[in-house]
Amino acid sequence: MAHPMKHAESSARRFGGKTEDYLAIHNWFDESKSFFTDFRHRALRHHAEGIFLAERIFGVTIVNSEGKQVPVRYIGEQHVREDLGRIPTAQDWLSQIKPARWMYGQRFTDSGGRTCA
Ligand SMILES: [Zn+2]
Repeated sequence: MAHPMKHAESSARRFGGKTEDYLAIHNWFDESKSFFTDFRHRALRHHAEGIFLAERIFGVTIVNSEGKQVPVRYIGEQHVREDLGRIPTAQDWLSQIKPARWMYGQRFTDSGGRTCA
């Protein structure tokens, strides 16, 4: 599944209400597509920690157009499962990054050339 609208339609079938009730949350999950165009954009929000971040941003529940409270966590879990088939952790994604020298950070030396922490 790719487009946020498809996820929102799926939410409406699953939780009731209209597609538009869920679109903002699904758009948020896929926003990272705007600056990284292949599937790796998902590393930023498509994981357990991303689902909890969505809950902090959108609230514990939303009220759909039928007046029904729907947990944001359930909507996030649906999105990530539809894309990936499971809910990975941020560690699952980060552990796949190939380390590069610049990632280790800067090392500072004192006037005698000794490394400072
Ligand atoms: Zn997605």
